[in-house]
Amino acid sequence: MLLCKKIKLEVSAQDAATLEFMQGKCRALYNWWVLKLRAGERWNFNNAKKTLKESRKFDPEINAVYGKLLAEVFFRLDKAMQAFFRRVAEGEQKPGFPRVKPRHQFFTLCYPAIYLEVQAKTLLLPTGGGGNWGPKCYPNIVAHLTEDPPAVFREVAISRDARGNYSASFVYQEPEQSSPPGGIVAFDLGIKTLASGYTDQGRVYHIGGFKGARWYNKQLDKIRSKRDKCKKKSRRYLHLSKVYKRVAERKRRKQQDCLHKASHLIADQLAERAVVIGDLSQRQMVLKKQEEETPKDKRKRQIRNRMVYNDWGLYGFVQMLAYKCLRSGKALHIISERDTSKTCSRCEYKQDMPLWKRTYRCPNCGLVMDRDDNSAINLYQRFVAGLPPHTPSGECGVLQEDGNGVEVIGASCHVQVQQLELWAGVTYV
Ligand SMILES: [Zn+2]
Repeated sequence: MLLCKKIKLEVSAQDAATLEFMQGKCRALYNWWVLKLRAGERWNFNNAKKTLKESRKFDPEINAVYGKLLAEVFFRLDKAMQAFFRRVAEGEQKPGFPRVKPRHQFFTLCYPAIYLEVQAKTLLLPTGGGGNWGPKCYPNIVAHLTEDPPAVFREVAISRDARGNYSASFVYQEPEQSSPPGGIVAFDLGIKTLASGYTDQGRVYHIGGFKGARWYNKQLDKIRSKRDKCKKKSRRYLHLSKVYKRVAERKRRKQQDCLHKASHLIADQLAERAVVIGDLSQRQMVLKKQEEETPKDKRKRQIRNRMVYNDWGLYGFVQMLAYKCLRSGKALHIISERDTSKTCSRCEYKQDMPLWKRTYRCPNCGLVMDRDDNSAINLYQRFVAGLPPHTPSGECGVLQEDGNGVEVIGASCHVQVQQLELWAGVTYV
């Protein structure tokens, strides 16, 4: 399977300037094409690529950009256009035409592996010019890698985060391990406890989630309100912006780390071969605005939705789980979780379970159990009974079937993650 390793780069001021120059030119080329297509130009990949020659004549400065990076711009635009055509064909309401890339964002630079050189922890990134291309305006970039790169890799994407740190994402092949002997574990994913599991041995697992979100949010809100009282672009304003970014990044990293550890625990540490989770796409997590809302309800809704969108990270968690399970030879099954929290796991009695009820008390058989454990047992029983059938692949996007009728789980999902990583500089691995 393909994985991606993101490593922080240390570059000199001159090399940083070279990177900025090259990404600026690549973005300009990309945006110029997007605007042309907006104005009604037909997209044809091969014809578009041939226009690079004219662009070089029009703006000789782009000769200082490494040619493979410029070629990559056309591949990237082609991907965006093909995705747009697919959405149109699927009849989506808002198919979303490819957009111009904003100036403040770093335009990710993709180098194919064969044009790169790695010596121990030094990465050599070529620039344009030299030979027939005339004088070389910028010397090749010599970047120091803060970690060891994979021995064999396919392509490398150079990106920059909000705080101005550069990093290189290496795409590499990793062998999948053989499957563990057997066993089933079902997990209920939730807010209070990240995952509650139940195994066919009758064991119960609890995996706690990221705890510090509230503390961080308080800090972040305080910094932002301080900043917003300052004059824009003043020294204090800029300083507080910097502090905000630093704290936000620390929070994000802590949270990602926590999700990685939790998914690693499930995929690599537990002995069970089959991992069962509920299909989140059917869950209503976000609270909708009510007609006549009291201020208390409004506050509640805001807190809840912030938690779901920013702090919870369950969707990222499922993606991590998908590729980590694939890597360790486990099968991840995503099944419908409908009514799993409402149903009694002993006698199948159903009752409403509002979120504040943390304990399931069955009036029919007298069962008293933690609500998440009860859901996990229901998921387990549903999976074992094989009813209702697994969610079709179209709905959850993670579960797929290959030509032989075998479930391939997570493979396509991970490719998506990788794309994300390459294009947006998001870390999942
Ligand atoms: Zn009961």
